[in-house]
Amino acid sequence: MRHERVSDAIFVFTSEMYAQVTASAVVTTEGIVVVDTLPFPQETRAMVSFLKGLGRGPIRYLVNTHWHGDHTNGNAVFANVQLVSHQLCAETMQAMGEARQDESTAERPTREEGIQIRVPDITFDAGEMCLHLGGKSLQMIPTPGHTPDSIVVNVREDKVVLAADTLMPLPYFVKGSHQDFKNSLRSLLELPADTVVQGHGEVLLRGEIKEVISSHICYLDTIQRRVAALLEAGQGPEALRKMDIESCGKSRIPLNGLVQDLHHANLQALYQEMTKTND
Ligand SMILES: [Zn+2]
Repeated sequence: MRHERVSDAIFVFTSEMYAQVTASAVVTTEGIVVVDTLPFPQETRAMVSFLKGLGRGPIRYLVNTHWHGDHTNGNAVFANVQLVSHQLCAETMQAMGEARQDESTAERPTREEGIQIRVPDITFDAGEMCLHLGGKSLQMIPTPGHTPDSIVVNVREDKVVLAADTLMPLPYFVKGSHQDFKNSLRSLLELPADTVVQGHGEVLLRGEIKEVISSHICYLDTIQRRVAALLEAGQGPEALRKMDIESCGKSRIPLNGLVQDLHHANLQALYQEMTKTND
């Protein structure tokens, strides 16, 4: 795990064990709010001991941005901390119980590593929720697309958006919705952010934020157009293999190449969705 400071009050922790997953902590005058955990409990424990070492008060809340295991596997490390999420996140985690598996074939932290599920305590089911603590306002905004329960956390005073998987090197909607994702990305363009922390990969700075979001929207449009063309030409799903990520306007390099798997899973999901609506 490595850490960096992106504003006076905000630290970002990045997994060195799986897919550059990030978790963040907002340090306030009345304690700390952690947003997401790291994939492996030992990394989450390292993050917690770093935060305790700051001597800036207890961890008061943990926010889950969505149910995926690579961001919630550390929940049980925060035994006496109030856990906040969207209602759909709590419901999904509850329903999946111990049978919960992770979002993609490439995700591996599972029960074998001794992971205990902990379901959020405080939830909201409509509109936004804002947590005010020690001079900071954490605005939790629903951004469905990656998953139906996805939220981003806008730390207003710092102009930092903790975007989780609503912004990662490639939009990934296999457990969510292609159309919702586009709408959510458009809504992110409206936020006045100096810094955006992605759910996987590098922190984005002011000059690049809008460009990255626009490029994601463009990618989602491109694959929709190309899958539609393929269907019109009467081609089967095997033709999707030839539609490589670079021809859809995205680099194949980020996350050690994992984006290529995400891209192909996106194409399959979109193909299925579009054949369903065509029937
Ligand atoms: Zn995710």
